Amino acid sequence: MKKTAIVTDSTAYISDETAKEQDIHIIPLNVVIGNEAYQELVDLGTEQFYQEMAANEVLPTTSQPAIGNFVQLFESLAKDGYEEIISIHLSSKISGTYQTALSADDMVEGVEILGFDTEISCAPQSYFVLEAARLARDGQTAAEIIKHLQDLKQRVMAYFMVDDLNHLHRGGRLSGAQRIVGNMLKIKPILQFVEGEIVPYEKVRTEKKALSRIFDLLKEDADSRKVTEITVIHANRIEKAQEIVSMLKGIHTDIPISISFFGPVIGTHLGEGSIGICCSNHVFRSVKSLPDHKLVNVPWEPLRRFLAGRRLTQKEIPFPQSILEEHELAGYIQHTQGLTSSPHHMCKRCGNKDPSLFGRFNSPLKQEHIYYCRHCLALGKISSTTRLYTWKAPTPTYVIPSKPLQWTGTLSTGQSNASNQVIKAIQENSSILVWAVCGAGKTEVLFHGIEAALLAGKRVLLATPRTDVVKELAPRFKKAFPEVKQAALYGGHTKEDTSAPLILATTHQVMRFYQAFDVVIVDEVDAFPYTFDPSLKYGVLQAKKTDACEVYLSATPSKELRNEANLRVVRIPRRYHGYDLPVPRMVWCGNWKKALQKERVPKVVMQWIIEHVNQRTPALLFVPSIYVLDQVSAVLTTHQIRHAAVHSASEDRHTHIESFRAARLPLLITTTILERGITIPRVDIAVLGAEADLFTESALVQISGRVGRDHLAPTGDAVFFHYGKTLAMQAAINHIRKMNEEEVQA
Ligand SMILES: [Zn+2]
Repeated sequence: MKKTAIVTDSTAYISDETAKEQDIHIIPLNVVIGNEAYQELVDLGTEQFYQEMAANEVLPTTSQPAIGNFVQLFESLAKDGYEEIISIHLSSKISGTYQTALSADDMVEGVEILGFDTEISCAPQSYFVLEAARLARDGQTAAEIIKHLQDLKQRVMAYFMVDDLNHLHRGGRLSGAQRIVGNMLKIKPILQFVEGEIVPYEKVRTEKKALSRIFDLLKEDADSRKVTEITVIHANRIEKAQEIVSMLKGIHTDIPISISFFGPVIGTHLGEGSIGICCSNHVFRSVKSLPDHKLVNVPWEPLRRFLAGRRLTQKEIPFPQSILEEHELAGYIQHTQGLTSSPHHMCKRCGNKDPSLFGRFNSPLKQEHIYYCRHCLALGKISSTTRLYTWKAPTPTYVIPSKPLQWTGTLSTGQSNASNQVIKAIQENSSILVWAVCGAGKTEVLFHGIEAALLAGKRVLLATPRTDVVKELAPRFKKAFPEVKQAALYGGHTKEDTSAPLILATTHQVMRFYQAFDVVIVDEVDAFPYTFDPSLKYGVLQAKKTDACEVYLSATPSKELRNEANLRVVRIPRRYHGYDLPVPRMVWCGNWKKALQKERVPKVVMQWIIEHVNQRTPALLFVPSIYVLDQVSAVLTTHQIRHAAVHSASEDRHTHIESFRAARLPLLITTTILERGITIPRVDIAVLGAEADLFTESALVQISGRVGRDHLAPTGDAVFFHYGKTLAMQAAINHIRKMNEEEVQA
């Protein structure tokens, strides 16, 4: 039996005695009043907090625990011999605590850490924590406990109301607030947690009416769900809470009813006087009796749907270990160790063999080192003790409509030729490179081939190195194949039905698939990071079936790829609308770095910008680094030129791109993150510092390829502002000229 620790945060408002008695470890959140920061319930009691809040003009603020607190606690638990930790937290939609706990996982060794987002807070959060503690004592594994907590989510209800909505509104913790702002803030809505967010459930004018409505809702729950406990929660209003308890006792004679409180952190957001009522029907049940999986001849369908075609760690599979073991005994699944060790270490998921990219820690039980792969750590830790599970057979079948493709557009001559070659490659299970100029319409070239594959019962993967490209393609494929089940997978967006016959994914997400696809299409095959990271190629190789057809797409394929044996090459030298590619011009702009240091943008560049802003022609300005991006942006801000600046780490990147696309924003400054995958009608582009190393021939061809893509505006301006011409600049111009001269094959 593994030793499992239960960790939670202070907003479950579990008393010290209970925590001690039930072996629960608590991380406090912080409240700042005036200039003083306090850890709630550690150096700031609830009563004292409400006094301070009432006495201070400036309202308090809150903050999540520092990551160091988690690391310290997790390490000390590992030292105490715990092998697994379940860290249970308030809704990740209202606090970063859960994310911080997950991040701490990567910094602590020797113990398995599983996070759980309760999507709620306060007393209902404590239901989850106490249940987990009980299951841990009962000997359930961490995975089994998590499964049970997931089930519990459906069985916990909470309603609450606040005295003054402004607290929630001001703290940004109220969703759908636009519906009730203004004078509506005076009403008393009943609030609820929906998928972790606080949303108004019903508008009621008085507290009395709100309470009576909550009583009704509770009665419905009690009748339909067999409520087993009720808790009344108050923000410094004990008498009101006691009154409510005695009223409820008159209605629910056989259900235990207790009182809890909103402590400092939650009190900050709800305000004094708030009242909550929550209930649950968490009848204790053994996890082992939960799913109907008494298998002898038949595998359990949810597991098959989840695991078929994938290779996942136990942590990534949301089913109890016991189910995995039974399926393994019955021969439906198998596992391998995540790392092989002889003759050298190799990670089975990402193919990493570089000795410097393996970390190690001491096994807490045995006197030996445990190694783990640092290269694919972002996807979750794989160590020499990690098991990777795969589905053996049989795989699920898919329903494919008789006419999967609903796209009605027509192909240009060049597209049509390429499309036929792609169909042929798919039928013959051979490999092909489609070398198509920017704006040739290479996505449409795939449609008929994908349709042929789906009709032949083949599974199709479209992989691309860029998240933005997945996001841009997903709606187009939904429209083209409306009745075909599909999933789009990228970082932060992975909870899709991965058993779909058509999968769009970033090359990182592809690493979780195994021998799943009959057709593998890699779009933007020359884009960073695919070309620089061999593990992404390894991932694609692992995800495809042995004799799968491979289709590569690019406007700027590398020499190696162009010359690869067994790879047929088909070229589309012309855009779908038939016009030439705009040829970029080179303009010397002087020492732009020095100019920026003096908080100036070179004159020619400034003129280009101002002309575009005045004429309302969308302008996209590429710069070599985030540092330069910030410099340019600062100068333009001083000159009051409306713009946005985006790079790979900008959180609001997509909002800005959408504003630019919708012509609400005249100018967008960007790094090479937008060199491909983006289409804006009428856009002109400029590159500042085009001589920088990262502006390679292919990058400059791609950047210039943003111009003139729309058939209504097929021309436009592309300019390389430089402080010294480079071979790459010249090569990019030659490349474009050559494509313009080439004949289209029919
Ligand atoms: Zn790895």
